[in-house]
Amino acid sequence: MKYLDAFRDGAVARRMVEQLHARVADYAGQMTFMEVCGTHTMAIYQHGIRSLLPPQIRLISGPGCPVCVTPVDYVDHAVALSRLPEVVIATFGDMVRVPGSSSNLQHEQARGAEVRIVYSPLDALALAQKHPEKKIVFLGVGFETTAPTIAGAILAAQRQGLKNFFVLGANKTIPIPMAALAADPELQVSGYLCPAHVSAIIGPGAYAPLAEQLGVPCVITGFEPLDMLQGIAMLADQVLEGRPRVETQYSRIVRPEGNPRARDILAQVFAPCDVPWRGIGVIPGSGLCIRDEFAAFDAARRIAVEVEAPREHPGCLCGEILKGKVRPGDCPLFRNACTPENPVGACMVSSEGTCAAEYKYGI
Ligand code: SF4
Repeated sequence: MKYLDAFRDGAVARRMVEQLHARVADYAGQMTFMEVCGTHTMAIYQHGIRSLLPPQIRLISGPGCPVCVTPVDYVDHAVALSRLPEVVIATFGDMVRVPGSSSNLQHEQARGAEVRIVYSPLDALALAQKHPEKKIVFLGVGFETTAPTIAGAILAAQRQGLKNFFVLGANKTIPIPMAALAADPELQVSGYLCPAHVSAIIGPGAYAPLAEQLGVPCVITGFEPLDMLQGIAMLADQVLEGRPRVETQYSRIVRPEGNPRARDILAQVFAPCDVPWRGIGVIPGSGLCIRDEFAAFDAARRIAVEVEAPREHPGCLCGEILKGKVRPGDCPLFRNACTPENPVGACMVSSEGTCAAEYKYGI
């Protein structure tokens, strides 16, 4: 904690907040900054960052929670696979409670399906080695931070000649939906708090089109309270100067070149493709699909199963929340029919979901 405490110093935070208020005091407009990282969303709620900001600055949450943006038909596909007797589903914990159209993986597990919580795709690979009689299907959900580890597991499975390791792919990239949302006139995003871990892989250059072509300031920001206050102040400065650019507040982790090795592994196994985002629809080129050379590991292509027609809960506003257009409190189901114990939508399930954050910490 010694090192983290330096980024949680109350006296320094107070000075930073005072400076921010003074800097924007004469600004007559409204600055709307969007975070697109579930860990940022949690940190903003946990540390009460909104309550510290001047009225000229508004924070909204975007599609930064990978579980939340995964569409309901993907969950239905995973549920259908879990019902096959030869299949074991291996997944990160958040996914098991995400509601599908008529079931979720937790319910299927209670009915006898084999669903294993794993902490890494390599755990799923180990399951495949240990149980050659089973088909191990890893749920490949996540952004550029998670995707290289999944690509690495597929490469390892190929090296080892494993025939029973599969990935049900739903990996996505973050800068493309950021551009889509920046072009939405209803939102009027004045700046992005860019994700920290994703940026450690893709590097600051990935956001250059946002700043240079769409004129949206971008600051790659860390997760601690002082990181967030500094990132917000850097965005405010860019707006006041009228000079949008990409800056890195989180320079203790993010290198200018990102992580080329992780990107190489990604490019080896995945190709860009058009994929649906919950609430946003299909965004061209925003997905990472398994290349044809690795089709033997693609559960969608290798394991035939019938999947029910997708149905979203009609009252759930998760889609609008992921676009930053409404807040959880605007949803009539929030804290009533929808709670972390009984989630109606993915935004209430995931530990990085906006509804879960607002439920836990308040506004
Ligand atoms: Fe959906 Fe529940 Fe959030 Fe409402 S509170 S938007 S039902 S997840």
